[in-house]
Formats: sequence, C-alpha cells, structure tokens
Amino acid sequence: MSADAADPDRLDVLALAPHPDDLEIVCGGTLAKLVKQGYRVGIIDLTSGEPTPRGSEETRAREAEAARNILGVPFRKNLNLPNRILMDSAENRYAVATELRRYRPGVVICTSGRTPAASPDHHQAHMLLEAARFHAQLTKWNDRFGGTEPYRVPMLVYAPFPFDAEQRSYHGTFVIDISDTFEQKLAAIRCYQSQFDGERFDKVKHFITGYNIVQGGRCGFEYGEFFALPHPVGGSDLFSVVRGAKPSRSAVVLAEQAPR
Ligand SMILES: [Zn+2]
Repeated sequence: MSADAADPDRLDVLALAPHPDDLEIVCGGTLAKLVKQGYRVGIIDLTSGEPTPRGSEETRAREAEAARNILGVPFRKNLNLPNRILMDSAENRYAVATELRRYRPGVVICTSGRTPAASPDHHQAHMLLEAARFHAQLTKWNDRFGGTEPYRVPMLVYAPFPFDAEQRSYHGTFVIDISDTFEQKLAAIRCYQSQFDGERFDKVKHFITGYNIVQGGRCGFEYGEFFALPHPVGGSDLFSVVRGAKPSRSAVVLAEQAPR
C-alpha cells in the first residue's frame, strides 16, 4: 500500500526520524505492537537516507516499504529533506509541522540524542522535531503550513538512540514489552540490505538483541524498548501504572504465591 493510498485523516501515533531504518532500530518492536493493539500508526522519514556508500534512492525506498510491511504499519511517508546536512531550520520546521497539522496525532514519537560516531542528522532531527511540535499549534501562520489548521500535539515521546553521547536525566522513562514483536523488529531491520548486509547485519543484530534484553530485563520482560518523556509519567491508577512491569525476579519462587 502506498503512502497516498493509506493517507489517514488522523493518526493515534506518528513516529518520526531522520532516516529510514532509525525507527526500526530504536522502536520497531513497539510500532509493530501498537499496530497489533489496534492503534492507527504512521511513520514519517525526514530524509531518504541517501547518499550512502551502497544505497540508492530507489533501493532505500524499496527497503523502507518492505520494512513497513513487516511491521504492519499502514502509513509511511518520506519528506525528502536533505540527508547528511539535515538542519533544524525554520523551513524544515514548517515542513514537519505541516505534517503534524495534517495528521493530528495523539502521540508523537521522535528519535532523540546526539550520536557523534554516527550521523549529525540525529541530533538536528531531535531539535527539529521538538520545534515542529511547538510550531504546529501556532495561529496566524497557516500560509507557512500549506493552509493547514493549527494543531497541538498532546504528547511527545522520545525514542532515544542507544549511542547517545550524553547520559540524560529524563523526567520520565518507561520500557515497552516487545517480547512478542522482537522477531518482527529484526526482520524489518533486515530489509535494509543496502545498509546492513551479511556481517554488518550480524553486528547490528547482536547489539540490538543485547540492548533490548537489557532494557526489557529491567522491567521483567524478555525484550524491551526504552522511551522517555519530557515530564513525569502520569496516571490516575497507581496499580496499573506500576504493574505494567512484571514483578522483580527473585532467586526463590514462592509456589504458594498465585500471580495477581
Ligand atoms: Zn540514522
């Protein structure tokens, strides 16, 4: 299904990242899970990810489409902003904010962090996406946003890159159990053959597997993906907020303690 054919009026969750393959790596398991849970999910890639040493525009588009299919996400769009030199500029903010106003998502997931050993686009996209979220709500500027109406994104969630250069103290963090979608996530990453062929895929798989095991293990899951919020995690039911995680593992299991 092409992006146009699947153009939704409104999305529950819209995930954005600078390059095709970023979202698969940081939160592909969660995106697949959200789809399974019945949410309307969309992906926006800011750039084509090209040029790269072994890719081409056509290859990358095919790979992104294959990954979308595996995750089951109905909607994916590429904004074709410039790769390698992506900047948090006013024009790029307008371009992203226009999409937020168009699809009016209830939750925006954006990749975050500064990756000095990888593309500087990651850091720029972090700032660009936060700024676009603010711009989306502005009145009297509809001409800058393709004539769309103002929209305030209620919730912004960070999907931090594992190789962030900084140790951040977020106000709120949480881990999503992706034990049932981890294989889907790996299969989606494997679609990017131009980036991760043979040996390179094995390395990525090794790292991602370890990382998701560690993050998941912190909350009692087999595999987990880590997220952060710019504010504390809110809730009206302490029991359900806290019991999203599984009980801490102990060396001795008490047989008489039935799970609740
Ligand atoms: Zn990237």
